[in-house]
Amino acid sequence: MAAHKLLLLPGDGIGVEVLAEVRRILAFIEQKGILSFEIEEDLVGGAAYDAHGVAITDAAMQKAKAADAILFGAVGGPQWDGVPYDVRPEAGLLRLRKELELFANLRPAICYPALADASALKRELVDGLDIVIVRELTGGVYFGEPKEITDLPNGQKRAVDTQVYETYEIERIAKVAFELARVRSNRVTSAEKRNVMKSGLLWNQVVTATHKAGYEDVKLDHMLADALGMQLVRAPKQFDVIVTDNLFGDILSDVASMLTGSLGMLPSASLGAEDPATGKRKALYEPVHGSAPDIAGKGLANPIAMIASLAMALKYSLGKPELANVLDRAISEVLADGLRTGDIWTEGMTKVGTSEMGGAVLKKFETLLSA
Ligand code: NAD
Repeated sequence: MAAHKLLLLPGDGIGVEVLAEVRRILAFIEQKGILSFEIEEDLVGGAAYDAHGVAITDAAMQKAKAADAILFGAVGGPQWDGVPYDVRPEAGLLRLRKELELFANLRPAICYPALADASALKRELVDGLDIVIVRELTGGVYFGEPKEITDLPNGQKRAVDTQVYETYEIERIAKVAFELARVRSNRVTSAEKRNVMKSGLLWNQVVTATHKAGYEDVKLDHMLADALGMQLVRAPKQFDVIVTDNLFGDILSDVASMLTGSLGMLPSASLGAEDPATGKRKALYEPVHGSAPDIAGKGLANPIAMIASLAMALKYSLGKPELANVLDRAISEVLADGLRTGDIWTEGMTKVGTSEMGGAVLKKFETLLSA
């Protein structure tokens, strides 16, 4: 069995604690002979700055480029607030995204039945919710030039950001969305603002053409991004895969995340282009949450977002979608048993810490696999 190359980047704060739980699951998978791994580990974020004066070293970047999947914890913390801008902890993550060209950000919003009451919406609207937002991550208004604030002769200032997309950028993200839909419920909703933005018009045209050119088996709808935001809180279960640009994706994925309760539950994946020779994509998997300095080092962090990120890696990088489903089911059943970390705890439930929660998921995973 060829070994899968993994790079573990725990980072700072609770990143270190939640990644420790993933390490236990990886060891179990390997010990069971299901997969074999070549695991590398390195520093990123504040930890890398303290050791090397940069947010990620060139050597760690080399390991990242060679990896089949990167599992990333979180970076940042108040102790690095004063460090120079280009070596601040977040610069490590941005360098990874940029140099690996991770243009597709996948954020699932899954509502586990046991947590439906923690949602801001009514139980019947979110119970069983399972959608994915595919956000374009490396283009659009966050990167377009010019991007500046200039002084005007009348003493006022003028700020410009540029929303810019080229055909290839829209085509490749649309393909990711269609391919993802094929292994889910086969529906894609594309969101833009073609009524007021030229980039929205091109987005709509390219998504439509990409659909026609090879994905007509997938059902495609177009929706204006503002209308989609409204539908997301009115009737979220109508969606399967939503594909949208960097700006709208940033906002809509945060809205979607609140449908499901806590930050500690939300995984994500960032994918690059498919290598035509190997069929593999560069990929980084990380929880949506940050390093949570307020609870770091106390063993209180919820490891589920990190474990669910591993499930995404099993599905999209390691060729084990069935195993990923078993891991997701283990999470769901542990929650149904009433185990809760502090962030998702409610009256009557059993409060546990990081390693107890990780251990319970691992135990359930083992039981489900041997059943
Ligand atoms: P955060 O996500 O770290 O924390 C927000 C709140 O949610 C905190 O109260 C925290 O205790 C709680 N929380 C988050 N994850 C949790 C978990 N797994 N279990 C239980 N509770 C959890 O966001 P923040 O406080 O705005 O940022 C803290 C630091 O993290 C900052 O330095 C920020 O820049 C950084 N950050 C990093 C990333 C990343 O690495 N991708 C993302 C966001 C923020």
